[in-house]
Amino acid sequence: MIVNIGGETKTYDLLQCHFHWGSEHSLSGQQQPLEIHCVHQQVSHSNVPRYGVLGIFFELGAANSFLSKFESNLPTHEIALRGRRLQGPGASNLFGNPIEGASTARRLAASTNSSSFVGPLDFKEVLSGLDLEHYWSYDGSFTTPPCTEAVDWYVLMAKSSASQAQLDKFRTAMGWTQAGGNFRNPQPLSQRTIYGCLKLPQSTKSQHPWYPYQVDQWAIHVSGSNMICKTGTFQSPIDFAQCIQPDMRAAPEITWAKQKVTLLNNGHAIQITAGNVGASRGKMTVRKKTYTLLQCHWHWSSEHTVGKRQYPLEVHCVHQQDGTEEAPLYGVFGVFYEVSAVPNQFLTSIEDNLPQYSYRRLGALGEAQQQADGFDLFGHPMDSAPGRRVAASSIVSTFSDPLNFQDLYNGVDLNHYWNYEGSFTTPPCTEAVDFYIMMEPAPISQAQLAKFKAAIGWKSAAGNFRPPQPLAGRSVAGCRTVGSVSLPDTHTVKSAQCPDQTAPLVLQVIMTILSVIILAAICLGPVRQSLANSSSARQMKFTGNVPAKVTQLKEDLKFLELDLETLKGTSEANGREMTKVQDLVKEIKMNT
Ligand SMILES: [Zn+2]
Ligand SMILES: [Zn+2]
Repeated sequence: MIVNIGGETKTYDLLQCHFHWGSEHSLSGQQQPLEIHCVHQQVSHSNVPRYGVLGIFFELGAANSFLSKFESNLPTHEIALRGRRLQGPGASNLFGNPIEGASTARRLAASTNSSSFVGPLDFKEVLSGLDLEHYWSYDGSFTTPPCTEAVDWYVLMAKSSASQAQLDKFRTAMGWTQAGGNFRNPQPLSQRTIYGCLKLPQSTKSQHPWYPYQVDQWAIHVSGSNMICKTGTFQSPIDFAQCIQPDMRAAPEITWAKQKVTLLNNGHAIQITAGNVGASRGKMTVRKKTYTLLQCHWHWSSEHTVGKRQYPLEVHCVHQQDGTEEAPLYGVFGVFYEVSAVPNQFLTSIEDNLPQYSYRRLGALGEAQQQADGFDLFGHPMDSAPGRRVAASSIVSTFSDPLNFQDLYNGVDLNHYWNYEGSFTTPPCTEAVDFYIMMEPAPISQAQLAKFKAAIGWKSAAGNFRPPQPLAGRSVAGCRTVGSVSLPDTHTVKSAQCPDQTAPLVLQVIMTILSVIILAAICLGPVRQSLANSSSARQMKFTGNVPAKVTQLKEDLKFLELDLETLKGTSEANGREMTKVQDLVKEIKMNT
């Protein structure tokens, strides 16, 4: 089920449909005879599952062809037929949690009566003839224990019909006759809004582009926005200090295969989705964790930086950690690219098939907005189910040659890498990602880079990257000796989220003060000299001021010297420059 609400597209996977006799929702206080709930789980990468339930009322009328498929095979249940309300803790479990469709076989076997009816059943037939464009929607809960408030409700205004004979069959099978049926009464609306009749949800999310990165946009306004983008303390990317002496480490064991891929542009990145399934899926084992390859995608310019500098391109190969189906954890293998005279062999095989972002589809909007809308249309970069979902919403290349994924890092030294715990670098910024970023960049030719930039788009934002986020006390492994602070790259300076740049800024301020003082010293030096040799009336005017100024200057220089001493300690690379400046200061002191 795909619902577009206020410009935000939500996609759900169908789990199961069930019936309530009489209806749970009511229309102007009127209960309807029967209501079907088709329960879906939202396709998302949040660790907190969310559900979408499509509800349809049945009124007495013509026989329903969907119901006719299984109306004579409805299983009954002893306890429901007895019609007593269940007591004790087993109550909700007997009929199962409505969301447990996926695990029915395992969990409900003991407490469920299954019909011999096994289908096939076309679920979509339940919608036949119904207007799908008019429905109520609201945020709600399960209508059965545990009443979890994690359900987007969509209740069609159009009613389906069922014959009296059909309704009777459902009523009989469901039991609960003494209770009047298996429904929960309408609950207070409280502060919630029901959309669909007079009020439509506001269309806002799609108005905000992802790039250039703005933290408040990602926290509140963009599609997929999440406060964790702003408040999180495990956010990615980060800046790596330059590594003077890297740790020699065991290389990640990579068993990516030569396989078919889907090469696509999802609106914010060029991506190759691994077409492998089941046992043949490529794996990465690193630091005792095993991950399964989902996809690789590219950022122009790089997201991680080294010594505050961006590389022109960075690839992220996204894996899901094995055994984390319930609360998925991810592992990203990343490689930087560095412009070289030699083209990159792996990129050569796809560079002329890169799907270009299509601007025509979305009308006369600005590029950034189109690409922001593109997220809704194009799904999430972590999406691993391209067949179903991305096909309709991404620009997919016709490229169909098998790709040897291992060629992606061909020649790159895998023994030297940084690793740290971080987050998605795109909304919703979920903090569930182990990053393994290789220190050695791969080569890319200028021409190849130009092709990637053109296909990725986001030209007005200078690329599809999020700048480095605060490290916030996290440890980064992989480097024994880190290098000095180097001056920041212009790209990263633009962001309000840059890591600490106090040292370079202090240096800049001191340099400015210093040049003023030097100028003053140069001007005042000769004045003092001439004062010593003269006693003319004109020069006498200075006698009161000049020695005071010189003393002040000497004081300033003393402090400056101390400051420089401190800076020298923290900044070895600038050490030589500093020594020169210090010598200069000493020289000025001697002259004054
Ligand atoms: Zn229900
Ligand atoms: Zn990425």
